[in-house]
Amino acid sequence: MSAHDPHCIFCKIVAGQIPSRKVYEDDDIFAFHDIHPWAPVHFLVIPKQHIPSMAQLGPEHERLMGRIMTLAPRLALEQGCNPYPEGGFRIVCNNGTEGGQEVHHLHVHVMGGPRPWLRG
Ligand code: AMP
Ligand code: ZN
Repeated sequence: MSAHDPHCIFCKIVAGQIPSRKVYEDDDIFAFHDIHPWAPVHFLVIPKQHIPSMAQLGPEHERLMGRIMTLAPRLALEQGCNPYPEGGFRIVCNNGTEGGQEVHHLHVHVMGGPRPWLRG
């Protein structure tokens, strides 16, 4: 698996070739607002490396995925989700066509904020 796929929309967002509203960036991780939000807060956290989905994960990705999952709650609060337990947030990670995945670059949806939401 190559680090970047020249045809992948999220690789292009990481490279700055497609604009996005950035939420967070470090050497390995990028986060940006979803272009069609379901909830008052809705952003995506992705590895910079092109990994198509969780189906491709191996032991070498444990640290990366651990970082994504521990980063998500912090970014959720920073982006305006209300604190747990009255507030909170939803994490969704679609994998494969039957799993509802449309963009085949691994991404974790983080959604939150006061209800009702558009979806979910
Ligand atoms: P999924 O169905 O899990 O693959 O979700 C893909 C998500 O990416 C959807 O929620 C889209 O709204 C979002 N999306 C697609 N293109 C962009 C973009 N250029 N900038 C931000 N979000 C996007
Ligand atoms: Zn990609």
